Amino acid sequence: MAELAQSDSQVPEPRVNLRDPDFYIEDGNVVLSAKDSTHTHTTYFRLHKGMLARASPIFRDMFTLSSPSAMEDYDGVPLVEMHDDAKDLRELIALLYDPPYISTILEGHDFTLRILGPARLANKYQIEWISKMVASQLEKRWPTTLQEWDAVAEEEEKISSYLKNATSVPDNLRRLPEPVSSILLARECDVTSILPFAFYHILAWPLDPTEQFLRWKVPQIDLLAPEDWRRMFLGQQRIQKWLGTLHTGDLTKTCQRGKHCDVIYIHLWYNIAQGVDFLSMTWLVAAKHLILDDIRACPECKQNFKDQIQVLRVDFFKKFPHFFQFSHDAEME
Ligand SMILES: [Zn+2]
Repeated sequence: MAELAQSDSQVPEPRVNLRDPDFYIEDGNVVLSAKDSTHTHTTYFRLHKGMLARASPIFRDMFTLSSPSAMEDYDGVPLVEMHDDAKDLRELIALLYDPPYISTILEGHDFTLRILGPARLANKYQIEWISKMVASQLEKRWPTTLQEWDAVAEEEEKISSYLKNATSVPDNLRRLPEPVSSILLARECDVTSILPFAFYHILAWPLDPTEQFLRWKVPQIDLLAPEDWRRMFLGQQRIQKWLGTLHTGDLTKTCQRGKHCDVIYIHLWYNIAQGVDFLSMTWLVAAKHLILDDIRACPECKQNFKDQIQVLRVDFFKKFPHFFQFSHDAEME
């Protein structure tokens, strides 16, 4: 028989229908079904129309506008076939039905990755509180001032050293969320103010897999859209251009003590410029650390150099939006 001649690889995977263990609720009056990403499994959720309609105007219209007779039945109640990914839909349902689940997601270090799917669905179904919650979390977690940025950078360094010594990391240390999913969420929830910082954070990370890395920090660059790759390289070019406009003459003044402090600065500046390797270290962090180094200049020149570096760091931070934006502020250069 022809069927028996088929090789194993041609035999389609059996389709599996599953009732969700947590959200197939006995007294529910509607069933939603959704397929997984490979379209081999269908999951059924038995839920409550009133609950869904209260959460989402889209669901409300779906239940009030379509006549029950037009809907297929499943297990004695109307069935709605959803065109969403079953995993994302499950996360959304969990957020609606299980309030403690919200804090489980928020407390996880992979918060932005986990909430991305449900946040997209929340937008689609106009469940505003989820979009608002995600927006406020992004604003809270991404630093918007240089002081905040420095504070997070310091805590991330502490986390790195804790992990190197294979001890547990204290919970109170703040770390930046995964940047690529943050970018996607920021667009989804209209928090564009965090975009430049997230792009900069990607640049600061080594793309070379042989570099030592910590799993929780690695950007999910596979999720980055072509447009965003362009934006990232544009940012890198603009940062390099900005660095190129700086002269050591801006940093050194004639030494009041008649010493050769300027030579020391030129050397130090050269080290900083070299340290601005986008695949390993950021300018902001490099500059902050190098000024702490013990340099053999006179105290006045030392202070002057520190002040100048700080002015540059503030200016650099202010220019983040410019570095990573395409057109309308190009004249800012
Ligand atoms: Zn001096």
